[in-house]
Amino acid sequence: MKKEEIKKIIIIVIAVIILVSIILLVKGCDSTKSDLKKKGYSKDEINTIVEKLSESDINKILNMDYNKNLVSIINEQYYIPDNLERYLTYSNKNENIKDVISIVNVGADSDWYTNTKEANVDEGIKMLVNKFHYLKDDYLPDDIVPISNWYAYDGHSIKKEVYDKYVSMWKAANEQGLRLLVNSSYRTFEDQQKEYDMSNDDYASRPGFSEHQTGLALDIVTDDIIGNEFENTDEFKWLQENAHLYGFILRYPKGKEHITGYNYESWHYRYVGKELATKVKESGLTYDEYYAYYCEYKKAC
Ligand SMILES: [Zn+2]
Repeated sequence: MKKEEIKKIIIIVIAVIILVSIILLVKGCDSTKSDLKKKGYSKDEINTIVEKLSESDINKILNMDYNKNLVSIINEQYYIPDNLERYLTYSNKNENIKDVISIVNVGADSDWYTNTKEANVDEGIKMLVNKFHYLKDDYLPDDIVPISNWYAYDGHSIKKEVYDKYVSMWKAANEQGLRLLVNSSYRTFEDQQKEYDMSNDDYASRPGFSEHQTGLALDIVTDDIIGNEFENTDEFKWLQENAHLYGFILRYPKGKEHITGYNYESWHYRYVGKELATKVKESGLTYDEYYAYYCEYKKAC
């Protein structure tokens, strides 16, 4: 055979292989679509499913009953592919799909304090400590410094970086005629143990699960006004507008109890640094949700 002929044959063989592959691919896709149709999904639903889900996720769907919430779930802004089966399961209990996404992302489709894992302390000011992420009993933050009585009730301490930013914030608020006061700050595991022993799950975190052990959380109030009343003060209003500029976020907002696991606390602020605090505030998410989506899933926080 001439060289030219061999070349021709090779080209024809390659062309046939490509053609067959394309046919098989299209056929495969068609059979997926018809399988989804058999499950009860509409044409529009099928198009979204095929466009957005991986082959393995589609196979999972095909092993489950038709779910009317599937397309709403995968179209949600904070959808995380790994959570698909949990969203579907939880959507049988909760009709609000946005809530389903938030609750599953933060792990609150399990009971509080179950499926817990150790907080990633290497993340420093970004670390997440909540009812699913704990600090070990021997975790001691470095750089803990006392807080002057000028800015706090007696006997408080906090991480140096947080203290510096708190003092800047205190001064800015003070220029507006406002007076902030710290009434809770860094707590050791043992401090939290004592607090928990005197209380219960409704009012205190279990030891290891309190943000106060990070040295990054402050309870901020004003003269004579503590607890729920703090919400009605000018100091609170000022913090709402300005705390992020100093790196602080309101950690347990109103209406998010089912996501944070905490009652609304107008006084509890967490330091995460100005850049992240600003992003969290702008997102309108709790830190638990923000962390799950941006820090853990997107690796971008
Ligand atoms: Zn607190």
